[in-house]
Amino acid sequence: MAARSLVWFRNDLRVSDHPALAAARARGEVVGVYCQCVEQWRQHGMADWRLSFQQRTLEALSQALRELGIPLLILQPGAFSGCAAALADLCQQHQLTHLDFIDEYPLNERRRDQQVVHVLGAQVEVSRHTADVVVQPGRLKTGEGRPYTVFTPFYRRWLQYRNEREPAAAVLPQAALPIPSTPIPRQLDGVPIDAGAQLWPAGEQAAQRALDDFVSARVAGYAERRDIPGVDGTSRLSAHLAVGAVSPAQCVRAAEQIAEGEGVETWVAEIAWRDFYRHIVAQFDRVSRGRAFRPPTDRLPWQDSSAPGWQAWCEGQTGYPLVDAGMRQLNQTGWMHNRLRMVTAMFLSKHLLIDWRLGEQYFMQRLVDGDFASNNGGWQWSAATGTDAAPYFRIFNPASQGQKFDPQGEFVTRWVPELKALPAKLLYKERRTWPAGIEYAAPVVEHGFARRRALDFFKANL
Ligand SMILES: Cc1cc2nc3c(=O)[nH]c(=O)nc-3n(C[C@H](O)[C@H](O)[C@H](O)COP(=O)(O)OP(=O)(O)OC[C@H]3O[C@@H](n4cnc5c(N)ncnc54)[C@H](O)[C@@H]3O)c2cc1C
Repeated sequence: MAARSLVWFRNDLRVSDHPALAAARARGEVVGVYCQCVEQWRQHGMADWRLSFQQRTLEALSQALRELGIPLLILQPGAFSGCAAALADLCQQHQLTHLDFIDEYPLNERRRDQQVVHVLGAQVEVSRHTADVVVQPGRLKTGEGRPYTVFTPFYRRWLQYRNEREPAAAVLPQAALPIPSTPIPRQLDGVPIDAGAQLWPAGEQAAQRALDDFVSARVAGYAERRDIPGVDGTSRLSAHLAVGAVSPAQCVRAAEQIAEGEGVETWVAEIAWRDFYRHIVAQFDRVSRGRAFRPPTDRLPWQDSSAPGWQAWCEGQTGYPLVDAGMRQLNQTGWMHNRLRMVTAMFLSKHLLIDWRLGEQYFMQRLVDGDFASNNGGWQWSAATGTDAAPYFRIFNPASQGQKFDPQGEFVTRWVPELKALPAKLLYKERRTWPAGIEYAAPVVEHGFARRRALDFFKANL
């Protein structure tokens, strides 16, 4: 029997540099499938922003596949546990001989895939591929044969392997099969597909344009500008990377082919951070179970959401201009600049001593680029429960961070307009120096006090 393969798309919604699609097409005819697991995604906290972005990316993928003669079928299993049976039915219905997919690393995703391999293994030949990372988890080990748990030595080794995989072959069109593609639902779980479309253009072509723009015009200045939230200094590719409209390997190659120097090196290191957190998730199941990466920190008696400051933090009303600007950017656009993700996450966990898992969940429920490994890694790093080599005594002072990264208050006043009337030189100074008449939230906690309290909290419990 001639080969007819099923390519199961997940967070790899593109046709270029897609080793599963390339392998399947090289073998013979191809059918694409996508499982909408809305119940499961919502359980994982997926934001409306991301849900609609993902749908639009899927729509673009369906169109690109149609041009290659490949139908894209959409299944609605609801939860991951329904994927195996739904895919098995499909294989039987269309006499499929092979199944190809690209590996994902969080625990629930790995369990889903094990179940699929178990159920379908008897029926079709299953091939798993690597492309959600530049270097496959498990490939890099310390001298003692263990996974790396600190970024810098990981990164040194990662650089040696980063171009190990050849880009996947371009996919040749096939004669159209008599199987119609499923129309893309115009809304999912009450979220219209067009929600946020202007702010977040989606699809593989949009991702490639964003990558080209960035590497041709901005990557050279990345090292100097990436920490300044008021300028467009970063790539804004995170949502595209999260749904796989572009692969991390394509990002590295594009940057290294077009330029060299500190900007490129620093940006490629960020792609390595993304890999690093995926390696952590793949090799330390406890982080997918809501536990700390550093087990002793599981003992810390964090506050819950009834603690003073939680509501103010969520709403961007803490009285700390940089923290509030970041939170409002997140609430209003589904995205927050990396520097502010660190500042706001550290503020919640160290100034307010509120459980980092609540912050992790809050971010996930709002981010257009919400991604378990990067979000969990970023939160645990900030809360001193994770992979940071300099753990709990790193406590950002939101005022010094503001002075350093937004001295003129360009970014802050964009998001906290109450402060427009305040001279920039007073923005991060004590309240008693402010002129009367500025109507802005009072600080939820005083920095010096919060810092001492956090140090005592960690010292007493670790
Ligand atoms: C508390 C916290 C939560 C975070 N949650 C997420 C999340 O849910 N999804 C997400 O994609 N990123 C997350 N990050 C990482 C980072 O903030 C974003 O990837 C970045 O701000 C996206 O903007 P950009 O695409 O312009 O990044 P660029 O600066 O252009 O970087 C390029 C790419 O590298 C990757 N990257 C950059 N920084 C990091 C990092 N620190 N960790 C992992 N990958 C990185 C991203 O894929 C990013 O798109 C989080 C960071 C922190 C501190």
